[in-house]
Amino acid sequence: MFDRVWDVIVVGAGPGGLASAIYTGRSNLSTLVVDAMFPGGQLLITEMIENYPGFPEPMAGFELSDKMKKQAEKFGAVIETGHSVSSVSVDGDIFLVGMESGGNVKSKTVIWAAGSTPKKLGVPGEAEFLGRGVSYCAVCDGALFKDRDVAVIGGGDSALEEALFLTKFAKKVYLIHRRDKFRAVPILQDRVRDNKKIEAVMNKAVDSVSGEQFVEELTLKDTETADLGDLKVDGIFIFIGHEPNAAPIVHLAEVDDRGYVVTDDEMKTATPGLFAVGDVRKKPLKQVVTAAADGAVAAMSASKYLEEKE
Ligand code: NAP
Repeated sequence: MFDRVWDVIVVGAGPGGLASAIYTGRSNLSTLVVDAMFPGGQLLITEMIENYPGFPEPMAGFELSDKMKKQAEKFGAVIETGHSVSSVSVDGDIFLVGMESGGNVKSKTVIWAAGSTPKKLGVPGEAEFLGRGVSYCAVCDGALFKDRDVAVIGGGDSALEEALFLTKFAKKVYLIHRRDKFRAVPILQDRVRDNKKIEAVMNKAVDSVSGEQFVEELTLKDTETADLGDLKVDGIFIFIGHEPNAAPIVHLAEVDDRGYVVTDDEMKTATPGLFAVGDVRKKPLKQVVTAAADGAVAAMSASKYLEEKE
């Protein structure tokens, strides 16, 4: 991958990156996709997708991402995993994409599809008990909590969806939210309300996580009265939103006050030839379908950019 100049390098192999590669591959542009992990992005930690058009039956996240990966490879994209990108710089007309492991990949355009990372609560015990009862991925760790009591933190779509998923294993799921209303879509709120294993705990924030070897207890603070109370749980799953993975390109792109990359309708950033798609981009709806749509648009923009250059 280091011995040539690619037409397009796509950084991130989630749905936005893979859709970009399907379209650039189909446009006969030499396309390299790099990802620190396996292809799929957040699809890999999503149990079932039920709102991606064309699949009326719920489909496992890994299955959908595997289909997207195969489709990108069918159109000639080269997918390299295990490569974390640490820098992006411009040298004349060429982008130098620096790998954490060393070396630069050269490319005429870059589609930045690096997604976002789960936000941390930042409370005592959270980091200490990571992997010992603290988790950010129900699909990865849920089965470890069979017949146990767990807490899910958050009030958005992710928290409610994952709380529902965890009821497959856990005896009891406390859904802890800092306000008195959930942010999640009504259909998820209805399902949560109907699920006997879930107990909503409203107006509470986590103050600390404690235990001996593993998580045993949460201290919760009432967000209205500031009263403290303890809750015995064996695990805590945190779904309080995400932070964009934009650090390597912030000097080349405009970002909003939360660090999301600002693009125009054609996925162009402030630097010609650099595009951004998916969850890393400032946009009103972060979904698999919108990430895929971004990818298609960015690929067409990259193609147009290259045509105009040549
Ligand atoms: P989100 O919508 O930003 O919700 C984050 C939740 O965490 C909010 O309820 C927020 O509380 C709470 N929160 C934030 N910081 C907190 C803190 N420090 N302590 C306690 N609670 C905190 O994030 P998300 O649920 O991860 O969803 C992200 C995007 O993906 C959304 O656009 C969502 O629609 C989408 N998504 C869609 C699906 C689906 O369609 N099936 C599934 C998952 C995610 P407040 O409400 O008080 O702000």
